[in-house]
Amino acid sequence: MIPLAFFVFIIYSISNMSDEVQQIKDKIDVADLIGEYVQLKPAGVNKKGLCPFHHEKTPSFMVSPERKSWHCFGCAKGGDIFTFIEEIEGMEFKEALKYLANKAGVVLTNSFKQEIGGSQRNRLKDINTEAARFFYNFLIKIPSAKLAMDYLIKRGIKSETIDEWQIGFIPEQWDLLTQYLLKKGFAIDDLVASGLTIKRDNADPKTYRGFYDRFRGRIMFPIWDAHGDVVGFTGRVLVEKENSGGKYVNTPQTAVYDKSRVIFGLNKAKQEIRSKNLIVMVEGQMDVIACHQAGMRNVVASSGTALTEEHVKLLKRYSININMAFDMDEAGQNAARRGIAIALREGMNIKVICLPEDAGKDPDECLKKNPHVWFDAVEKAQDIMEWYFAKAFTNKDPANHHHKQTISNELLPDIVLIPYAVERDHWLRLLSEKLNVDVAVLREDMTRVKGKGEGGRWKDVKEASATVLVKTSLDMRIERLFGLVFKFPELVGKVIGAGLDNALSVGLLAPLYEQIKIEYNTNKQIEPTKLPQGLIVGTENIVDLLSMQGDWEFADFHLKEAGEELDKLILIIKDEWVKNKRKGLQIEIERAEKAGDKIDLEQLLDKYNKVHA
Ligand SMILES: [Zn+2]
Repeated sequence: MIPLAFFVFIIYSISNMSDEVQQIKDKIDVADLIGEYVQLKPAGVNKKGLCPFHHEKTPSFMVSPERKSWHCFGCAKGGDIFTFIEEIEGMEFKEALKYLANKAGVVLTNSFKQEIGGSQRNRLKDINTEAARFFYNFLIKIPSAKLAMDYLIKRGIKSETIDEWQIGFIPEQWDLLTQYLLKKGFAIDDLVASGLTIKRDNADPKTYRGFYDRFRGRIMFPIWDAHGDVVGFTGRVLVEKENSGGKYVNTPQTAVYDKSRVIFGLNKAKQEIRSKNLIVMVEGQMDVIACHQAGMRNVVASSGTALTEEHVKLLKRYSININMAFDMDEAGQNAARRGIAIALREGMNIKVICLPEDAGKDPDECLKKNPHVWFDAVEKAQDIMEWYFAKAFTNKDPANHHHKQTISNELLPDIVLIPYAVERDHWLRLLSEKLNVDVAVLREDMTRVKGKGEGGRWKDVKEASATVLVKTSLDMRIERLFGLVFKFPELVGKVIGAGLDNALSVGLLAPLYEQIKIEYNTNKQIEPTKLPQGLIVGTENIVDLLSMQGDWEFADFHLKEAGEELDKLILIIKDEWVKNKRKGLQIEIERAEKAGDKIDLEQLLDKYNKVHA
């Protein structure tokens, strides 16, 4: 039997918890808190702004200071300060609680602290914090770290910088850190979950044999999240040996570290980014540290990965202006291009930092050679579209018709991404002038480019052009159809009943059509936001993409016009499908004729005549 005292304890904890939750809610103004993420404007007793959780152009996101709550009438999300922080920061409740308690200056009672300690994410952050302290103390206090210290000094890192960035060192030993953290009272399972300890298959959790440190003989750079919690590390090998396992080793993906979500240096740069209203994005962690040391403090880097949508959303909270420095070789440019496409689509103002030829291969090197050159390059960064234009026209003759097409093929996919019509139009007109081609012709071409989906540009540029080749005009009509239906879900019944099964059950979007049918047959309706995203190989967010396409192409449509458009599309798709099918059979018929295969020929001709959508 469970003792009564246990229940009393639980009830006591819960009542304490709700007291403290209430205290935090009373101390933090919901509009102030949300105002850190969203620009809010007064709307009567409430405030409103653009929803941070869905794409919108007119505000439907309301905050009520009186009710201490928020709600979006566009995407139906809503709640209190805790749910807001959970949602926007990707935290679980206990983490949000700890975070907001700190902000409110509410001291949590002991029983509550135990509760919070119970969250694995909080435990992993504690482990990382303790490990960072250990590495740092080792570097500055232990004589055997001298070699590491010498290396850092040689790279021009000052001792204040080591303190500020908590740079550390761990010597080449088997399980020094693991043993230390175990003595500090952390559980072995949590150490493994933090990525700091590696577990062998035959490891014994009782004696801790078979558990060893991931980072050995390395200079350690902590990685913080935007709130200043240590979530992971980069370890740079001090003495490169054959079996030292790579120059850099990073914390693997854990419950608190996801490299596609963490921006290195943001916790230290965010204030300056806000006050300068500019993000300077570089590639390496050493570049970030060198820039901060040189007094440029609005500098960040993505952690060893191309810029992702999550990165861009995080950065956008602080500024929409971003100056980027990236490797100018072909591979570096292609890698950067994907991130730039995402940032363009999110409406960010992007500029490219171009270092002069002999200035050094990266910001760190440039700062060592001549800091003024770097500061100057950041200042004079070039607008991304101007930069793309200059690149596209290099070594090409705009009077040559082949070159004309190449140039427009290169630029239109980027122009298409710009979410602001006026700006988009500006670049389109400039291109039309420079190529001496009518704007209307470019618009037509742009529709074709648009049809291949924005996803195209997000992949490697080469991959994107391959996508254009395999996508038929029928595929594009079908995309348009789905875009329309996602914008007007009430029309879905019409599509299901249109006799398009043959046409829609083949081709790129067939799996999506299957899913829509299942949904419709069960519920007699569909909710596009609830459809699974990952149905199409190579495009991880097909439903979002098609929905956006629908929003964009049918922005001014009412239901009636949408219905008429749908009727037209259904006819065209049927017609094209029949033509395609007949074309295919035609080839087989010609082959059978040549081979003199009469039986085959008769069957094929029969098929040909009976083709229908
Ligand atoms: Zn919303």
